Amino acid sequence: MNKMKETKEDRIWKKAVKERDNYTCQVCGKKDKRLNSAHILPWEIKETRNDIMNGITLCITCHTFGKLSCHKNPIWFSDWLMNNKPTQYYHCMQRFKEWLNQEEKKSTHMDMIDWDNPVKLEKMFKPLNKERIE
Ligand SMILES: [Zn+2]
Repeated sequence: MNKMKETKEDRIWKKAVKERDNYTCQVCGKKDKRLNSAHILPWEIKETRNDIMNGITLCITCHTFGKLSCHKNPIWFSDWLMNNKPTQYYHCMQRFKEWLNQEEKKSTHMDMIDWDNPVKLEKMFKPLNKERIE
């Protein structure tokens, strides 16, 4: 995937997410590991890219490398988020739903998404099924 260069807004967002989370991995509680500001809804969605509520501080294990990590097991992460950060979870789901309803924008954005690796969208938003979001 060809990500654009990090902008000033990206840097501000990353810092704000970590500050809100007290520079602590929100999943395992560690402070002494390398920490990432992770996007809950994919970075490719411009509307929520710099939304603080769409960010969560995770160590690299919980973000990317662990068996139970946001990237390796998005279904687990999605459930974890719903149970542990319901306010953020429902905020993101609502914004994702709004985004999906914008048909025009959808086609533009869909082109930006790496469909060879659709795990983020396909699985992460499993909970978008109606009984959970309504
Ligand atoms: Zn962690």
